[in-house]
Amino acid sequence: MNEDQVRVRFAPSPTGLLHVGNARTALFNWLYARQHRGAFVLRVEDTDVERSAPEYERKLIEDLRWLGLDWDEGPDTGGPFGPYRQSARLETYSAHTKTLLEAGKAYYCFCPPEDLEKERQEARAAGKTPVYSGKCRSIPGDEALGRVADGEAASVRLRTPGQGEFRFDDLVRGTVTFDLAVVGDPVLVRSTGLPAYNYVVVIDDFLMRITHVIRGEDHLANTVRQILTYRALDCPLPQFAHLSMVMGADNTRLSKRHGATAVDKFKRDGYLASSLFNYLALLGWAPPDGNEVLDRDELVRLFDLGRVSRSAAIFDYGKLHWLNRQHIKRLPPRAKAEEALPHLQAAGFLPQEMTDAHWSWLEQAVEAFSERVDTFSDLKDSLAQIFDFSLEHLGEQEWSDLKGECGKRVVRSFAGLLAGIDRLDFAAFAEMTKAIKGETGCKGRDLYHPLRIALTARSSGLDLDKFIPLVESGAALDLPRPLKSCSERVAEALSFF
Ligand code: GLU
Repeated sequence: MNEDQVRVRFAPSPTGLLHVGNARTALFNWLYARQHRGAFVLRVEDTDVERSAPEYERKLIEDLRWLGLDWDEGPDTGGPFGPYRQSARLETYSAHTKTLLEAGKAYYCFCPPEDLEKERQEARAAGKTPVYSGKCRSIPGDEALGRVADGEAASVRLRTPGQGEFRFDDLVRGTVTFDLAVVGDPVLVRSTGLPAYNYVVVIDDFLMRITHVIRGEDHLANTVRQILTYRALDCPLPQFAHLSMVMGADNTRLSKRHGATAVDKFKRDGYLASSLFNYLALLGWAPPDGNEVLDRDELVRLFDLGRVSRSAAIFDYGKLHWLNRQHIKRLPPRAKAEEALPHLQAAGFLPQEMTDAHWSWLEQAVEAFSERVDTFSDLKDSLAQIFDFSLEHLGEQEWSDLKGECGKRVVRSFAGLLAGIDRLDFAAFAEMTKAIKGETGCKGRDLYHPLRIALTARSSGLDLDKFIPLVESGAALDLPRPLKSCSERVAEALSFF
């Protein structure tokens, strides 16, 4: 490993589905690593045994991979600084705790949790920030060891300066200042024996040689405790970059109230991974030339941590739709069809076993509708327009257009012309409309509207030059839900006259 190599990490706790806020943190780390030819490490922070679940870890990995992120070291890929799951590193943490206790940099705290809670409540009631009183700081080491040996419950706390001003430089936020008097001596190891996040994150970042800690601003206050721990362990500090929070349009933390928040939900809703990726990169960062539609390689080239904004990033669903449309446009036909397929299979429009004929029909369908949809899941509503042919649901106006003076004559004439045709194509249709016009004397809206309604059972929708070939080739296919041909549609319309 090159000593100057950039090493960053994404360190999720597997306690729920991957949220877009966290995905954006992962993505900024990934961009930074790839841009500097550094290493991107995935570390699973599962010391909260009650809330962590292997199922969430599996899902997390699946969602990160779907988004297009890959890591050089991680629980599934291994690497030189593993294990990469904190629950497998407990012995390492204990060894460091022993060293800190022996050096007097940490001490045992015997305060019962109820007393600590009472102190916290009293402080809050008095309008003060709760800070540990330091009651156990001065218990002599031998005495403390004796009490622990006798089985008394004890946590381990870091001995901190307790007062003074504390500063550190943040790559996004500039100089950050804290008053140590409100920090207190943080708990490193709980009385249950489980180490605290603020403690193990330091040991891991140090041992995994992390050079840049890029994470959410909600960890800013933790950083003070972590830096004090680095000092106690005599470890060099990484650089910190705290990203602003992702908010909804009303400026509160993005939550389900605002819409989808889990990466998995965006995937199921038919967004392209490339557009969500692109959108997440724009949360707090803007490309220098203002062109916002970017693929992964372009983002790696352009991304600049130094230009990441300190202001809150607002999650704009409308902009994501727009970006998704742009990314859909960029896809070649076959790739569009591949993205659309699972949504259309789930909706029962396409079979699980796809033949070449199914694929080419799917490409045709996706091309016909893709400019009209924000996401591939919207395509199922578009396809429903051609599968659901039901004249019973026509409105009053459509009925009178279809069964009016011209309507009946036009549709009857059309049915007559269709009788000699095996499969209609648009050129033949265009010829037919001329013949129908000559035969019936109906023209313009009086001619085209009844034809459209008889074919589509709707007064608007896809242009007939796309509709007719799509329906005709679909009707010839073996589909889970058969598609009616133009002749069948017109025959049905006639049956109402
Ligand atoms: N496990 C922490 C979290 O999910 C990691 C924070 C960090 O990046 O240090 O919030």
